[in-house]
Amino acid sequence: MSTLEVRNPANGELVIALPADDAGSVALKAGAARAAQPAWAAWPLSERLACLKAFRDAVVAQRDALATTLTRETGKPIRMARNELDGLLPRIDFFLAECAQAIAPETVYEEGGLREQIEHMPLGVVANISAWNYPWFVGCNVILPALATGNAVLYKPSEYATLTGLEIARLLHEAGVPRQVMACLVGAGEVGSALLAQEVDGVFFTGSHATGKRIAEAVGGRFVKLQLELGGKDPTYVCEDADVAAAAASLADGAMYNSGQSCCSVERIYVHEAIHDAFVEAFVQTVGGFRMGDPMNEDTYIGPLTRMPQLDVLSAQVADARERGARVLTGGQVGGGSGNWFEPTVLVDVDHTMEVMREESFGPVIGIQKVRDDAEAVRLMNDTRYGLTAGVYTPDEARARRILAQVHAGSVYWNCCDRVSPRLPWSGVRDSGLGLTLSKYGIQAFTRTKAWHLRTAG
Ligand code: NAD
Repeated sequence: MSTLEVRNPANGELVIALPADDAGSVALKAGAARAAQPAWAAWPLSERLACLKAFRDAVVAQRDALATTLTRETGKPIRMARNELDGLLPRIDFFLAECAQAIAPETVYEEGGLREQIEHMPLGVVANISAWNYPWFVGCNVILPALATGNAVLYKPSEYATLTGLEIARLLHEAGVPRQVMACLVGAGEVGSALLAQEVDGVFFTGSHATGKRIAEAVGGRFVKLQLELGGKDPTYVCEDADVAAAAASLADGAMYNSGQSCCSVERIYVHEAIHDAFVEAFVQTVGGFRMGDPMNEDTYIGPLTRMPQLDVLSAQVADARERGARVLTGGQVGGGSGNWFEPTVLVDVDHTMEVMREESFGPVIGIQKVRDDAEAVRLMNDTRYGLTAGVYTPDEARARRILAQVHAGSVYWNCCDRVSPRLPWSGVRDSGLGLTLSKYGIQAFTRTKAWHLRTAG
């Protein structure tokens, strides 16, 4: 049997070698899920939701140990690991509160002995292939509503967050979800591929654009539901009437939180020329206060990158920007010692000839570009193949709305950033993805509609 090595990104040390799945074990788990799903769908909704509630209670009770596991395998600073677990609770609460209403049968017509109804049926067996950067969030955004609506789930966590994936499955089993209904698959891309070769009724993917494209090609022609939550190059525009200090503090956090490894991290900043220099000074000062170090320390803000190959991506982006005339105001280097360290980095005098303003960085690197007016800001914000989030900082709501209405993005922010709400749909446009999670639509996403035409006899 092959193994999957889990390494600590802070020092490269082996945490554990886990037995990995292979094509045979994936097929067995898929067959068991297929056989078990109808009985699970027949459970009353209240009993399926009771499992989610028990899962929530277990997350609360075991939060500190779960956070430590997350930090050891991803390098996420421990305070942020706890924040992720705390942030999961309102999402669970949302699903618990909204599920019944979101999938309630609807009578849409009733007259002369004829009744027409819409019913929301589970898809069946769904595959969830997931990312490592917020494994509790992105995993549970799919797993929980999928289970609540009566599906069986074959969950392939990222190979960089496998221990967390196994914990999610363990807690759900302990909460009462049958083992066959919720299976965790251990391994990297080849196990994901083996999963896609199974007969599944839906594929829900969170990860990079490159892998998303491969998955769309693998699933193409099979007529199964496909959702892709992919990367972004999320822009923000700071207008000349913005509160410079507040915007700089908010955006430095939005760019560097989780060491910049959020799908909705601020990746590009455009600043009106009238306040550009003051903004940059405040931004660099805020970044200077971010402590980089052992992710287990309470006061660490910047931890190691989870994936070592990203160090080369960031180094290449910084080198390319420098060659084309950018200035590095702070950072710019791979950190010393073992582990995947990259200094928080701020670049100015950047433009769209540079990779750092076009390709996802997914690390603590940000480019700040000067703009003349709103029209130039809108043009540059839209000059991307991605479209996950975008934001504007100004006290003027009408101006913010005018600008954001023209920007191609699934989510838009006024005076805030790097934020996800369980009540709102989470989606990307263009190369940022297909479909959505969260909100009532992200519950219905795990169902298909069945149309009932009912005529009383006679
Ligand atoms: P990735 O694409 O490298 O891996 C994602 C998953 O796909 C992993 O589980 C991996 O094992 C699996 N995989 C790889 N090759 C496969 C194949 N050929 N067939 C099937 N499965 C395969 O992405 P990552 O590094 O885990 O995540 C980072 C990316 O995810 C970033 O681009 C980030 O923006 C994006 N992301 C997006 C969102 C969102 O909501 N839009 C949320 C989190 C992360």
